[in-house]
Amino acid sequence: MAIERTFSMIKPDATARNLTGAITKMFEDAGLRVVASKRVWMSRRQAEGFYAVHKERPFFDELCEFMSSGPTVVQVLEGENAIAKNREIMGATNPADAAEGTIRKLYANSIGENSVHGSDAPETAAEEIRYWFSDVELVG
Ligand code: GDP
Repeated sequence: MAIERTFSMIKPDATARNLTGAITKMFEDAGLRVVASKRVWMSRRQAEGFYAVHKERPFFDELCEFMSSGPTVVQVLEGENAIAKNREIMGATNPADAAEGTIRKLYANSIGENSVHGSDAPETAAEEIRYWFSDVELVG
């Protein structure tokens, strides 16, 4: 299996409950390394840009409002099969459907306020990393 990088966000509902450390520990315990990390309070415009792929969806406004409502921790995670591994650790989008022991099962408030984001494919991972980080911020 290849060493990959993926993009992760700890969303405002989780930073508000002081869960940054607990969630990061779950990534690290699963063998993923945090090679870049910063805390940002994104603007509405940045949220709309990041989630542009969802702009026709009925929840788009609610999602952008939520994502710009408080601080988010943006991270790059590296490791074997990092993209799929991160999605597994996160669990299903809706916490009601998430497997036991996943971040969303443990911590998500709802399908919208679901504590974490993780890229779903190599192309989106590269795009999302580029959206939030410059090359010199990817420290290793
Ligand atoms: P993900 O890849 O598991 O994050 O899920 P999606 O790409 O389908 O959706 C992106 C994000 O939009 C989710 O993580 C949720 O925060 C939000 N979202 C998805 N579906 C809904 C919904 O039905 N209602 C609301 N309010 N937010 C949603």
